[in-house]
Amino acid sequence: MAENSLHVVDPEIAELIKAEERRQADTVKLIASENYVSKAVLAATGTVLTNKYSEGYPGKRYYEGQQVIDQIEALAIERAKAVFGVNHANVQPYSGSPANLAIYLAFLQPGDTVMGMGLPFGGHLTHGWSVSATGKWFNPVRYGVRKDTGRIDLDEVREIALRERPKLIFCGGTAIPRTIDFPAFAEIAKEVGAVLAADIAHIAGLVAGGAHPSPVGHADVISTTTHKTLRGPRGAMLMATSDEHATAINKAVFPGLQGGPHNHTTAAIAVALHEAATEEFRDYARQVVLNAKALAEELISRGFDLVSGGTDNHLILMDLTPKGIGGKPAAQALDKAGLETNYNSVPFDTRKPFDPSGIRIGTAGVTSRGMGVAEMRQIGAWMDQVVSALAKDEDEAKHVITRVHGEVRELTSHFPAPGLS
Ligand SMILES: *Cc1c(COP(=O)(O)O)cnc(C)c1O
Repeated sequence: MAENSLHVVDPEIAELIKAEERRQADTVKLIASENYVSKAVLAATGTVLTNKYSEGYPGKRYYEGQQVIDQIEALAIERAKAVFGVNHANVQPYSGSPANLAIYLAFLQPGDTVMGMGLPFGGHLTHGWSVSATGKWFNPVRYGVRKDTGRIDLDEVREIALRERPKLIFCGGTAIPRTIDFPAFAEIAKEVGAVLAADIAHIAGLVAGGAHPSPVGHADVISTTTHKTLRGPRGAMLMATSDEHATAINKAVFPGLQGGPHNHTTAAIAVALHEAATEEFRDYARQVVLNAKALAEELISRGFDLVSGGTDNHLILMDLTPKGIGGKPAAQALDKAGLETNYNSVPFDTRKPFDPSGIRIGTAGVTSRGMGVAEMRQIGAWMDQVVSALAKDEDEAKHVITRVHGEVRELTSHFPAPGLS
């Protein structure tokens, strides 16, 4: 071991990282916003690129020594343009939330009206939710889903837009199990003269892999994180088709909102985009959706109530009310059994956000481990066993959790996660 290795310099943190690696290896990751990056992406992240400041853009920097950084960022941009089929890409946003804030800075003045999906219906905080800066500094109006279908009602979206005249409309979100109708949103935005932002943070990998329709040609601006289904490092990108929108976005990201870009992240994004351009990644994206559909079917057959009745993408949102249990105790029990999920509000939830009725799951992570339809059926069965036991009797639940945890470890040992040793 090198004398300056992490383990020697800081054994405490080194041990904790090891422990987290073991936890990730032994757990079935069903958190819809997470994934496992490849060894190559991980390698790019942990490099000397973190030492370099490079405020500005390739060819127009405020610091010297950009001979290499310019090439890295230019490559990341070219790959983003090729993978998503756009004319402009900005790969500098630190994460999804600052990327979205840059959209406000580019197109709105404080107090202007923004329309987004309400958080309890599946929208993101940054789409104008009240506790977010975007809800405090702008005038938010919201759309939701229909109570009977659990799906977005585009007539309602149009009605609200015509009444409120937003300058910016967001489509996309964090807990939407169905295909986003980009052409319909574009028509509404055009009718009211709003900028349409498609936030594809969750589905970017599916869009890149051809498993979800693309917003290109419909949305004025596309925002995405790079660390969810796209399987890259924690980061984000903003994309646009027109020069005018691209210029506004670039100015908003730097110098409007950020200083120096995280060059190690930029490199890792470039690697992830290189991987996303392969035929294997198309197969991956397709399998993510097949797995989600298989898991949804299994859960429905076991009496779970899925919002909108199923899924078109990687994500499943379910209301546990018919199972006689809240989302939080269910998520905690599932975690003890090695099945990692998050509790989540469901549309028209009667419980509080910190103790809501639902849980949200996704298949991006398990699919990265090579799991398929058979494993999804098994996972659905385990979820049912844990949740049903918990609803019935705490002692019985303890036994079921212990048994399932053993079986989960057995399964995960056969499906090594990318990037983990
Ligand atoms: C995850 C997510 C974001 C925010 O990304 P962070 O990197 O967590 O800031 C924004 N929008 C949507 C729709 C998301 O799902």
